Amino acid sequence: MNRNTILIGGLMLSGLANAAVTQRDASPVGPVSVAETPQFVLLSFDDNNSSAGLDFVTQLLATRTNPAGNDIFAGQPLTATFFNTCGPSRTNATVISQWQELAKQGHEIANHTETHPYDIVNGNATQHWMTEAEWLDELTTCQTFLNQLYKDAGVDNQVVGFRTPHLQYSDYTFKAMVANGIRYDSSVPAGVYWPEDGTNNVWPHTLHAGSPSQNKAAQDGWKSPISNYDTLWEVPMHTLIVPADDIIGQYGINYSLRDKIAQRISYFDKTVGKADNMDFNMYFTTAWSAASLNADEVLAIYKYNLDLHLEGNRSPLAIGLHSAYYGLENGQENPYTPESTVASRQKTLEAFVDYALTKHNVRFVTHQQLLQWMDADIGTTPPVDPPVDPEPPVDPPVDPEPPVDPEPPVDPEPPVDPKPPVDACTVAPWDTTKIYVGGDQASLDNKLWQAKWWTTATTPTTTEWGPWKLVGDCV
Ligand SMILES: [Zn+2]
Repeated sequence: MNRNTILIGGLMLSGLANAAVTQRDASPVGPVSVAETPQFVLLSFDDNNSSAGLDFVTQLLATRTNPAGNDIFAGQPLTATFFNTCGPSRTNATVISQWQELAKQGHEIANHTETHPYDIVNGNATQHWMTEAEWLDELTTCQTFLNQLYKDAGVDNQVVGFRTPHLQYSDYTFKAMVANGIRYDSSVPAGVYWPEDGTNNVWPHTLHAGSPSQNKAAQDGWKSPISNYDTLWEVPMHTLIVPADDIIGQYGINYSLRDKIAQRISYFDKTVGKADNMDFNMYFTTAWSAASLNADEVLAIYKYNLDLHLEGNRSPLAIGLHSAYYGLENGQENPYTPESTVASRQKTLEAFVDYALTKHNVRFVTHQQLLQWMDADIGTTPPVDPPVDPEPPVDPPVDPEPPVDPEPPVDPEPPVDPKPPVDACTVAPWDTTKIYVGGDQASLDNKLWQAKWWTTATTPTTTEWGPWKLVGDCV
């Protein structure tokens, strides 16, 4: 048991002046013995502005239930977490009703900001455009909208989760979470450093001493330092281990997947085989620094990682997804996923879920449900029937690195925003589902806009730190 209950005074925590706060360490072992621990699987979907993709995902989850057992999740419908970008769907009645339906079905609605901003300067994750006030505004605007959505759906719940767009953040992002009563983040790097290998990954923990991979990343200078937060949880989304050459045949692939990825991702280490978790990083084109895998390869990775977690300390397996990749957009395939199609990605997601449900102790739950389970230590009461073949706990890895002293982020320099007049808007109107890269142009509201960098589903505005710059008014 790795927890201490402490009293925190004077915190601005959702109106609680003095709250009993439970800290939980980033320990590799779980809150109860391995034998008593269900294997939680956390499916999360980001953005969620695509109606077709949401339809597929909703249907997939609604038609399956967790295996039988003695815990409160047994036999229940599968649930997942939806990190929604509010702005693009505010006035989209179809998507809004889909979000409400998800809430009614017991899924978790979480915050992914209002406009999906891009925060880092020239690809350097330690330099930021966004001010403290801008981050606060991004979170608060979406939080207010989503809490109202819960209310309108008649569901007694509040938004407690946050994931940052592009996984980019500064300490301001975390301050904005705390100010909004957010209970957990799921954005910082996890499992990047040895020895987390899929069998001994850290469990969700509070950020009272940071997070192991984030602390090390800040120390090594590729992420901004963040302060410690006694009450805020991190639900890690670990790197996924790519099956090694000697076992990949068991997962239906007859060539070296590690070699394939190593040829495409410069920092991929063939020895440890750690790959980025988000489906974007797996499916998207190498032109976007992703691995451009096919759906069979992704399925092999998902199945293998579930097996590792089951054999190990049963840390929850989090899978990062985008619902938009699982539905056709206006009848079209995504042009940036050259080795997979909507149909093949759907098949992989379905096949993985069905594979997981053949394991008697797997439970698909939301992030919020997992934290409630950890809070209550529900598993400390031994189940009525002894679990089948309890696995011995693995040797714990070395202690995580102590956190580095937090440095204040550098003052962001707002980009210049020239606005010369232009002759006419002859370019195509801005499309919320299209992916734009730096230099692409689009017209909106009788103005011509140019993308500053990769962006999708972010409405062009003159916000200084946004991905769009105003070229000029159409005349
Ligand atoms: Zn996103």
